[in-house]
This record gives sequence, structure tokens and C-alpha cells, in this order.
Amino acid sequence: MIKKMAKKLFLLEIVKAMGLTFRMMLTRPVTRQYPDEKRPAFPGFRGLHALARREDGTPRCVGCGLCSAVCPSRCIHVYTSEGADHRKIVDGYDIEVLRCVYCGFCVEACPYKAVVLTEHFEYSDYTREALFMNKDKLLSNWDNYMAGAKGEEYHKRFWRPMSEDFKAHDDQAVFRGAKQKELSNAA
Ligand code: SF4
Ligand code: SF4
Repeated sequence: MIKKMAKKLFLLEIVKAMGLTFRMMLTRPVTRQYPDEKRPAFPGFRGLHALARREDGTPRCVGCGLCSAVCPSRCIHVYTSEGADHRKIVDGYDIEVLRCVYCGFCVEACPYKAVVLTEHFEYSDYTREALFMNKDKLLSNWDNYMAGAKGEEYHKRFWRPMSEDFKAHDDQAVFRGAKQKELSNAA
């Protein structure tokens, strides 16, 4: 009761609040003056989409359509045809970026490490067309933001499952391919 009265009489809450305000005036501001001041995106940030290339420069995508099937926004469209040797040819690959919710399911579903989400986030524009990514644009996104060591690091950290994820304990029974059996018998 006395404490309550003292609080009211001496306006303690106001004094405390003023003290906090004063303290904040003496601390360094944390606001960044974007776009002059930028901080790098953290690894694994889900930014603009890209289609990965193999070491020889050819696109990794084989047109299986798993990314399109898993996409909850239905914003990936894969167009394929049959080549002369019955191989699938990826004629087109489009992503309607404005409909994407950046869930990353397409990256996880792709068996060929072909579709990735880069760390690039500054791609706002004035038209819908600019944010409609076709195959060429997606491949150039890879060249611009992920080529080289960066892409390798991305796949190592964020693309799963890798073969080492299937490693079993030494005493665990596992199915092995004939080739592996040959190798282990030879060893
Ligand atoms: S991140 Fe999600 S919503 Fe965006 S394209 Fe991939 S699967 Fe679709
Ligand atoms: S990006 Fe991957 S999942 Fe999608 S069609 Fe190409 S290979 Fe298949």
C-alpha cells in the first residue's frame, strides 16, 4: 500500500521511463541506412531463384517435374519434349516469382540439385514481366549469384539428402548394390 502511494506521489514510473529514454539516447543507434549500409544475407537465405549448371556449364535440370509437382503455389512450369535419342529435352522452365512463398520445397524435392534459392534479395521491379523468370533468366541468376565455390557450398549445406546421410552404423544390416559388395569382398 505504502509502495503504491509512493509510486503515485513521486511519479516513479515516469522517472523510470525517462531514465530509460535517456539511456537509449546514449547508446549507439542500430538502424542501418539502407541502401547505403547493407549487411550480407545469411547463408541459406531464400532469395531469388536460379537454375544450377554442371561443371561443364550445361543446365542440371532434367525436366522431371518434381519441383513443379511439390510447389504449393503452383508457380513452377516445366516444358519438355523427347529428343532424338529418347532423352528428355527441357524446352522451357518458368517460375512466377510473384506467386512464390519461398518455402524451399522445390530445392528439397529436386533430385539433381538443379533449382536453388540464391541469397540475392534486391530484385523489386515495376512490372510483373520483370519478375517472371524463364529458363535463360534463371540460368543467368546462377551465373550471377551462385557460380563457383558459392554454389558448391550451398549444395553441401542446404541440399539433402547427400549420400553420407544414408550411412549406417557398422553393425546395422543394410541393402548394398552388387558393385559395393564386389568392392567390400575385394577389400
Ligand atoms: S520456394 Fe516454394 S513456393 Fe517458391 S517456387 Fe519453390 S516450391 Fe514453389
Ligand atoms: S529443377 Fe529439379 S526437380 Fe525441377 S524439373 Fe528440373 S531436375 Fe526436376
